[in-house]
Amino acid sequence: MFRKIANGFIDLIFPLNCALCGQFDPVTQRQPLCRACLQSIPYARPPFCLKCARHLKTYNEQGLCPDCLLQPPAFDGAWAFTRYEPPMTNMIRAFKFHNKTALRKTFAHIARTFLTRYGLELTADMLIPVPIHPVRLRERGYNQSALLAQSLAGLTGIPLATAILKKHLLIPRQSELRRKERWTNIQGAFRIENSSLARNKHIILVDDLLTTGATASEAAGALKQAGAAKVELIALSAA
Ligand SMILES: [Zn+2]
Ligand SMILES: [Zn+2]
Repeated sequence: MFRKIANGFIDLIFPLNCALCGQFDPVTQRQPLCRACLQSIPYARPPFCLKCARHLKTYNEQGLCPDCLLQPPAFDGAWAFTRYEPPMTNMIRAFKFHNKTALRKTFAHIARTFLTRYGLELTADMLIPVPIHPVRLRERGYNQSALLAQSLAGLTGIPLATAILKKHLLIPRQSELRRKERWTNIQGAFRIENSSLARNKHIILVDDLLTTGATASEAAGALKQAGAAKVELIALSAA
């Protein structure tokens, strides 16, 4: 109670400014972003690739993007809510590397807006955040995908499962690797614990960013080997 009152005073003296542009917006002062920045979010647009949900620039019979035609990912389907363009680039970087975990409120807003816009109702037996290696977890203090998955669990009522998929190989950051290396480097990086919990289950993997799809595909493949019936992916943004 006291802390609540104290925070109220602090907010009066130092109103919360937008985490992106620094402007103060009296309407959204309890949210990390001002209205103008919220409006600038680049939501993903149809037509969507049937596999990874990235925007299809040219139509082909399979309904797949060039990446999925070249290297079909192991997941069965995906939704990525936004395009990886500013301000998503800055927001995801801040969320991932600079402790701006309050941005998860904005991400929940993005998820809600996207799902409502396309009339999507997510159903699955469980949500599994793409795990990070324990060393990275110690460096960062949190797994950004787990925070996103928590928000999605709150939004959809799908339970969160964090005891099944583990990352046991510490590999160079994927962003520092070339496309082809990403697919070979990630091989065998995940381990399944409690595989009976995944058997015959419909699982939605949650990640912050879909780039080549190599990481999500490897994680989905591991879950399928453990007997998962269906593995889909939700990403905040797709490059
Ligand atoms: Zn702003
Ligand atoms: Zn695709």
